[in-house]
Amino acid sequence: MEKVLIIGSSGQLGEELAEGLRARFGEDRVVCSDIKDPGTGQEMLFEHLDVLDKDRLLEVVQKHGITQIYLLAALLSAVAEKNPAFAWRLNMEGLFNVLDLAKEGRIKKVFWPSSIAVFGPTTPKQQVPQHAITEPNTIYGVGKLAGERWCEYYHNKFGVDVRGIRYPGLIGYKTMPGGGTTDYAVHIFHGALKSHSYASFLKEGSMLPMMYMPDAVHATLSLMDAPADKISIWSSYNVTAMSFTPGELAAGIQKRIPEFVCTYAPDHRQAIADGWPASIDDTVARNDWNWTPGYGLNEMVDDMLTHLPMVLAAHQK
Ligand code: NAD
Repeated sequence: MEKVLIIGSSGQLGEELAEGLRARFGEDRVVCSDIKDPGTGQEMLFEHLDVLDKDRLLEVVQKHGITQIYLLAALLSAVAEKNPAFAWRLNMEGLFNVLDLAKEGRIKKVFWPSSIAVFGPTTPKQQVPQHAITEPNTIYGVGKLAGERWCEYYHNKFGVDVRGIRYPGLIGYKTMPGGGTTDYAVHIFHGALKSHSYASFLKEGSMLPMMYMPDAVHATLSLMDAPADKISIWSSYNVTAMSFTPGELAAGIQKRIPEFVCTYAPDHRQAIADGWPASIDDTVARNDWNWTPGYGLNEMVDDMLTHLPMVLAAHQK
């Protein structure tokens, strides 16, 4: 019987993935952990854990009889640029601590997310295939690319079952994003609902690949459920759901909230976005483990504008 540990469970992806994993394995089979407390009012198995503390990590794994780890703790792209040395340490050493547990046979399976940040300015912009030029120009991308290589190495050398996804920008209404370059796509909904206005930190025409959170959770669970003989990529899979610009997202919101006004004030994050692809080809994931997204731009905007008002109202209480 599987028992899952999520490391970095209090973040944007972690809170939603925890719900998906609890539905998949059962409430008592999922242990959340983070250096930050979980959101208030949430009933869950929770451990304070710094992934850089190897002894404490082993203690938590043994205490709960953990069989799978989902390692989400990381510094995201924009935050990592402000502290490259620490970003490298957290994003790499945390990964080694978890991969070594798998190498030693203490856990059976690892999930580690990569990102479209592994691509860079020399990668073609459109429909980037699984195997493309990867020359990232951010420390976040450099770390993700190195992590991908290490995952594949641990698989090939030591038989470690480690699986990964190159997530595009993730959008959800349950938690705020943690300092990435695509965060505008969540902030814009908050601006639209609170003040009918938003100033985008990316240009109106800056197109990036994106995914709605239910699809990100679905992709993660599908990949982890797939039989090992269906997996052909042991570094990280391309997956995508949609691509849009801030201007197109603003127009989608204006259709539902006509008084909404979006302005554009690009900042340092524009340079990061400029190095990333506009669209991704995820054929290999579709063929290997039947990946198909459920949400495009319109479905995502409808769902966000249905659910986010309730979340904002609950926070005001
Ligand atoms: P986030 O910043 O929202 O959450 C990360 C969590 O890790 C936070 O709760 C933080 O407290 C925790 N953490 C930080 N240092 C820690 C440590 N030393 N020990 C334990 N926990 C620690 O990030 P997210 O958006 O949830 O991203 C999760 C993963 O997905 C990351 O690896 C990220 O690179 C990847 N990813 C995210 C996106 C996105 O758009 N959100 C896109 C591509 C890839």
